Amino acid sequence: MDTILVVNAGSSSLKFEIFATDGGLRKLAKGQMEGIGTAPQLRVKGAGGEILVDQNHSPGDVPDLPAAMRLVGAWLREKHEGRLVAVGHRVVHGGAEYERPVLIDDKVIRDLEKLVPLAPLHQENNLAPIRAVIERRPDLPQVACFDTSFHRGHSVVADHYAIPEHFFAEGVRRYGFHGLSYEYIAGRLREVAPDIAGGRVIVAHLGSGASLCALSNGRSVETTFGFTALDGIPMGTRCGQIDPGVLLYLLQQRGMAPREVQDLLYKESGLKGLSGMSNDVRALLASDSPQASLALEHFVYRIGLSAGALTAALGGLDAFVFTAGIGENSPDIRARIAATLSWLGAEVDVEKNAEQALLISTPASKVRLYVVPTDEELMIARHTLGLIGG
Ligand code: ADP
Repeated sequence: MDTILVVNAGSSSLKFEIFATDGGLRKLAKGQMEGIGTAPQLRVKGAGGEILVDQNHSPGDVPDLPAAMRLVGAWLREKHEGRLVAVGHRVVHGGAEYERPVLIDDKVIRDLEKLVPLAPLHQENNLAPIRAVIERRPDLPQVACFDTSFHRGHSVVADHYAIPEHFFAEGVRRYGFHGLSYEYIAGRLREVAPDIAGGRVIVAHLGSGASLCALSNGRSVETTFGFTALDGIPMGTRCGQIDPGVLLYLLQQRGMAPREVQDLLYKESGLKGLSGMSNDVRALLASDSPQASLALEHFVYRIGLSAGALTAALGGLDAFVFTAGIGENSPDIRARIAATLSWLGAEVDVEKNAEQALLISTPASKVRLYVVPTDEELMIARHTLGLIGG
């Protein structure tokens, strides 16, 4: 049995999935190494959710991502019965050039290294497991799948900031992220709602990171993320859109160091910062604190505002799709967001929404509302298989 390993590396965690490639892609296992460098824990589940591994490791054994990748590799060699034929990686930044996934070679690595300054918190983490695999298995084809690629068809007008033009050439422009999720949803809509897939659709990827994407005939034409994954709607711990004057104030009047501002905007803002409590929507929904309600109201309000802007970019709206952790699991937040779309004629069906049905709008609703679970790993596996000629 031939298999593909899909890797999604973050700052302190390494998530992976294994797919069999015979007779279409089949998920065999899903795992993650969390607490890298602090309290490493490897957990792997089989296709049916059964636990295959649950091991704690010492921080000395797994101090960094390459070490985590080696440990996952060792587990694969020992326990995995398939023949690994390729590794697909989620890579946050493909810059303005990489419009599609690519087989990794030395040139690709050099190009991706050049993009590190554009995504300092993520790109290095994505490159580390690629290098670790090259070290151990230089023969193994590796594929980089970018979060930015799906948005590369945006108009040059949409991709600009109103600052002097030479910054655009330097790379200071809007890229957009969550592209693998949106690409998956666009494909899934063709299967589950073919009559709407060619229309004007907003997809709301609402997880710990959150953004909206405007799809016209299945292609991204606008999104809420920009130069970095800080822009747009508020997220679990990230601020979303903010007046750049606030940053000047923090740097100049408050004397904060750039690194402190970075931590504030990426790690201490969003739902967590506003509620003063948690970045988890479940905890905020369960709380009776006024700050928790404010955080959720603000989240919903900003999503409604952005949906209005994206509707303008599309020239109207046929459907709105909820996906990712919050979008797939919270009827309450979905109903509140749907209410911000009532001016467009959107009407939620309370029962269908509670059941997490695929279609959760009423027959009379002028905008169809859908819940479509996303699967970025499957998207990566498909691209990887495609590029190795499967
Ligand atoms: P990521 O993959 O970006 O880490 P997910 O897509 O898994 O994120 O989403 C994680 C978020 O989903 C959590 O922060 C949590 O707030 C939210 N979430 C998960 N389940 C529920 C639920 N039942 N109700 C509300 N929110 C939920």
